[in-house]
Amino acid sequence: MKAPSPMDFPTFLQRIPKVDLHCHLVGTLRQQTLAELALRYGLALPRPAHALYDFADFYDFLDVLRLAASSLRSGDDFARVTYEALEDGHRLGNLRHAELLFNPQYFYPHGVTYRTMIDGMREGLAAARSDFDVSALLVPSFDRMIDARGAMQILDDILAYRPDEVIGIGLDGAERSGPPARFADVYDRAGRAGLKRTAHVCEDNQTLEEAPPRHYAICRDILGCDRLDHGYNLLADPAMAARARDEGLFFNTCTVTSVTRNLERRRASIVQMVALGLNVTVNTDDPVMFKTDIADCYQRLFADQPQWGVAQARLFSVNGVAASWLGQNEKASLLESFKLELASLENELAGTVL
Ligand SMILES: [Zn+2]
Repeated sequence: MKAPSPMDFPTFLQRIPKVDLHCHLVGTLRQQTLAELALRYGLALPRPAHALYDFADFYDFLDVLRLAASSLRSGDDFARVTYEALEDGHRLGNLRHAELLFNPQYFYPHGVTYRTMIDGMREGLAAARSDFDVSALLVPSFDRMIDARGAMQILDDILAYRPDEVIGIGLDGAERSGPPARFADVYDRAGRAGLKRTAHVCEDNQTLEEAPPRHYAICRDILGCDRLDHGYNLLADPAMAARARDEGLFFNTCTVTSVTRNLERRRASIVQMVALGLNVTVNTDDPVMFKTDIADCYQRLFADQPQWGVAQARLFSVNGVAASWLGQNEKASLLESFKLELASLENELAGTVL
């Protein structure tokens, strides 16, 4: 009988248990699902379903993003795409827990109530949990295009209906269109109400003037953020990066960006953040729209870093659990199960199958 072939390192990366803490629901829509939903609501597709995510440029990407946001209207729509997002993560990269960001402001204009969104997503989460043993939490987020008053109105809705799955708030979109300080009152109220807080900050598709390192201090000192998304531009200010390291804050970085020319720089920044001792997790951002998945995000990041090896893979895997907003008990039991699975896969990789 032929001995089983040894596992290669990319396969090891694909199989290890993972968490995705920076994943936008609208970026997870399968092309076919988006095409079907758009058809149902009489929305025109810019091109055939199989090529929907072949973006011509950044503006084309934004158009498709808008189309995706207009195509989610009923609770069933939200349930379906939430379920599919978790199914894809489970199937492609052994995703075990996700925290999904979504922007209520994208859906209100089409008559969708906040409760419809939440109940639909909860239905999808429950079905995925029972079918794939993947857990997930929800993070309603504000696109910075909104003003402080609009954000406060959304927070009214968030605070008026708070099932356990809604764990915190986020802030995304271009930093130049809404500096973090604008949302001080919204974040303060959310924090006092017991919601966790994150924000996209120091994102590298924007200049150092648009997304400067000092935004880190604002997110911490004024917004009271518990963790942050991205963070690459922080590297331009060694003192601020040292502060972030000393504070031990987690950065939910993403290997892939829509701006192709920045892909290499993005990966280099994540590598540098790790080298500086920052706490880093690996995430997908907009996986299907960016033609990636959680396993691919690990594989691409490790491709040029032979020195990282198993130890760094293990660290990213358990960092995802540590940075999650799960309750203490759930976190401890997920960590335990990650450690067992990692040990078994490490044995298999080393060719010492027990
Ligand atoms: Zn993002």
